[in-house]
Amino acid sequence: MTKALAAAGSDAGQAGLAQMSRMARVSCYTLGALSSAPVIAMLLWSLKTQTLRSILTLVLSAILIAALLATCARTWRRFFVLTFPLWVVASAYAACTILSGKVPGRALALLLSGASWEEISGLFAIWPQKWMTLPIAAVMALYLILSSKLPVWPIFSRATLNVGGVLLALTIPMGVYAAQNSAQLAEGVALNPVVGSVIFFGMQMPRAHDELQGKLVAKTPFHARRTRTGEEVHVLIVGESARRASWSAYGYTRPTTPYLNRLAMDGEAILLRNAMADANLTEFAVPMMLTGLTPQQAASGGRLGGNLLDLAKEAGYRTAWLVNQDVGVSTLMAIAADHLEYPPDLHEGIFGRSALDEVLLPAYRAEIARAGHARLIGMHGMGSHWEYYRRYPRNLQRFGSPQRLSMLTSATTDRSMFTDLADSYDNSVLYTDWFLQQIIEAARELQVPATVTFFPDHGEASPTLDGGAVGHGSAHYVAAEFEIPALIWLNAAYRQAHPEKVAALAANGSKEIRSHDVFSTMADLMGINWPGATPERSFASERFVPDATKEHLARGVLTKRP
Ligand SMILES: [Zn+2]
Repeated sequence: MTKALAAAGSDAGQAGLAQMSRMARVSCYTLGALSSAPVIAMLLWSLKTQTLRSILTLVLSAILIAALLATCARTWRRFFVLTFPLWVVASAYAACTILSGKVPGRALALLLSGASWEEISGLFAIWPQKWMTLPIAAVMALYLILSSKLPVWPIFSRATLNVGGVLLALTIPMGVYAAQNSAQLAEGVALNPVVGSVIFFGMQMPRAHDELQGKLVAKTPFHARRTRTGEEVHVLIVGESARRASWSAYGYTRPTTPYLNRLAMDGEAILLRNAMADANLTEFAVPMMLTGLTPQQAASGGRLGGNLLDLAKEAGYRTAWLVNQDVGVSTLMAIAADHLEYPPDLHEGIFGRSALDEVLLPAYRAEIARAGHARLIGMHGMGSHWEYYRRYPRNLQRFGSPQRLSMLTSATTDRSMFTDLADSYDNSVLYTDWFLQQIIEAARELQVPATVTFFPDHGEASPTLDGGAVGHGSAHYVAAEFEIPALIWLNAAYRQAHPEKVAALAANGSKEIRSHDVFSTMADLMGINWPGATPERSFASERFVPDATKEHLARGVLTKRP
């Protein structure tokens, strides 16, 4: 290329033209450096994290794509102008990979597909590095200006053809070596920021969109039957962002759960001492709870089958599903309850949602009062999800006086705000305690066997108590995001009818219990049997075997905890 540029320069002849040619040459080199930056950044990152085969695949694919695009463009100006959109998405892809330590995948696609514009702008507002927007825009403008002002120089000169020929020849042994391991080859292709971003936007995003609409759920009949007759009622409350160590029932110094403390002390509720979330994101954890899918199955792309409500319905239960949450999580599982309750809120998703979980209580009480059926009532609420200060009414602002919080505070580095964050989180736990009291006391009125199970989707990291981690959804294992509080309350009629289940629950209460155990346990409590039943996954069974894999999904990727 240098010779060609030099030739172009000397052809111009005059001093002014030589000067212009020098400038154009500098522009061309600058553009070359900018456009190859995403690939070089991915290459440097890969050297520390990836296998040799994957790295070679990255290099190989970069050469082939550059050759292909160059053949189509034929001039440097057209090459840089045409590849501008690819360069933008490839840069975003590389930045995302390097910042999060993983190439963008299903987790990000699900988050982006499920998010409204308002949520995306909210996420942008809390992005600590948003000052970078201006420099990024400046670099993009520079790229466009430089490329549009380039002279019409051909790409293919003798020099570029020689270099290109050598590079293309090198791709043959690289390709032969890389092709020997298809998994590493695929990983290497995803490392290429151009191909990776095309796969992400062209395949992952549409797939995530379908997934959120439940189109990928493959339901087949369970052939379930109920092993007993008569009326009984089972309630499952899927909690949200519940940090075990922030509950006084588990020893927290602040009295955040006075009602549950009393219940546990009286032996009315069995606290699960070592409940662990399978995932640290709602979209992953809740489907695992309701279908029994393990982290390993979810990580290998296992499709969701029928869920707990389908199983219960098949066995003759009346089902209700009450949602004060991002309804996308319910559609993702293709929930089809006999009664679906989804009270309106100005905000469909999670951010900005302000309806308190008590909006579900009228529908819950109506289901409790619906005598004559065996009933399963599931609830998915906002629990203690950020923004914490929206999760409780003013009269429950017991701890501190967190007045200064806004949606932006979760990204704060101002340590004086950390106390306010912790205070408002604790107030949300107090509200959860009050909410569970309303649920359990209403169920207590029943004369028929009844159980109430509370199991949150995941935990939450506190900036003051967890060494700087905040919230949930980290790309690595943060204990507070997985250690959750959970409990089962059983009424006297149920205890009398099924003493063996109560004994098993008490015996298993200190063992490690995982999200995907909830499915089999609820089925077991409800007395449902089916050919594919796995009693060793039910912690209400004496046959329970704790999951010993120590594997969880951290931001959707299988991760082993230390
Ligand atoms: Zn969640």
